[in-house]
Amino acid sequence: MRAILTYHSIDPSGSAISVDETTFRGHLDWLADGGPSVVPLGELLEREDDEDAVSLTFDDGFGNFGSTAWPLLRERGLAATLFVVVDHVGRNNDWGGRSEPGIPGLDLLDWDELGRLVEDGLEIGSHTRRHLRLAGLDAGSLEDEVAGAAAEIESRLGRRPPGFAYPYGSLDEGAEMVVAREHEWACSTRLGVLELDSPRFRLPRLDAFYYRRPGRLEAWGTAGFRVRLAARRAGREARVMLAGRGAS
Ligand SMILES: [Zn+2]
Repeated sequence: MRAILTYHSIDPSGSAISVDETTFRGHLDWLADGGPSVVPLGELLEREDDEDAVSLTFDDGFGNFGSTAWPLLRERGLAATLFVVVDHVGRNNDWGGRSEPGIPGLDLLDWDELGRLVEDGLEIGSHTRRHLRLAGLDAGSLEDEVAGAAAEIESRLGRRPPGFAYPYGSLDEGAEMVVAREHEWACSTRLGVLELDSPRFRLPRLDAFYYRRPGRLEAWGTAGFRVRLAARRAGREARVMLAGRGAS
């Protein structure tokens, strides 16, 4: 089985974007000690479907990635991709100038810190300029959010971001076309493991939020793991339909 794991913030708040450090350490220890192999995402896509492998992704570029997550990844030799929101680098996560209910206000890494992490082996992906929902966005804004963000990351860090993550998982055909032109692969927020026919620019992921309970991630590869995943996905899709908008 192959899958992409999504983390956001490593902090003790218990919010929907947070995994606490003890749980995170538990995940990494399990991965480093006989769990599925951890590989860069571009490599994961080339692996055989029956291999046990995961890629680790972190959305938004929080400061605690640099202070907490990266040192733990680094000491275990594990690869990761960090998706940064270009216009918010060095600022905070008040996308659109306001905080979201239940989501802690957190500092984001700045360009110098990101540069050091890249030198240290971290892969940077794009998470747009302003963390807007891309579905329905006009062509000019779409260009700026996708191509503009990629160009800025390249000029700041000297490397083109191979990957992209859609804010809130929000996308439509137009957005996907621009993303595919600018990147090698892209992550959605659709819950799922990688399948042979997973679309390269709408890759499913497993949100670590759902694997915070002890033993949940470690059930990897069992029938119970797949059953719980299917139930989560059905529940989430029903909620999204009721809310009439894209998954957050
Ligand atoms: Zn995000």
